[in-house]
Amino acid sequence: MSAMSPTDDYEFTCPQCGEGFAVNGGMRAAVLERGCPICGSPASTDAFDPCPA
Ligand SMILES: [Zn+2]
Repeated sequence: MSAMSPTDDYEFTCPQCGEGFAVNGGMRAAVLERGCPICGSPASTDAFDPCPA
């Protein structure tokens, strides 16, 4: 595997729109603060799963 994604630490799945993508710690904080970047609905920590490297 040669994926260049060294900072993808979490898998975010939006409970509203169902969109899912990998995020790093900074993005996770941004989504928790601003909500889902796709649909704008509030996201809780439950929407994140740790991504095992
Ligand atoms: Zn969403």
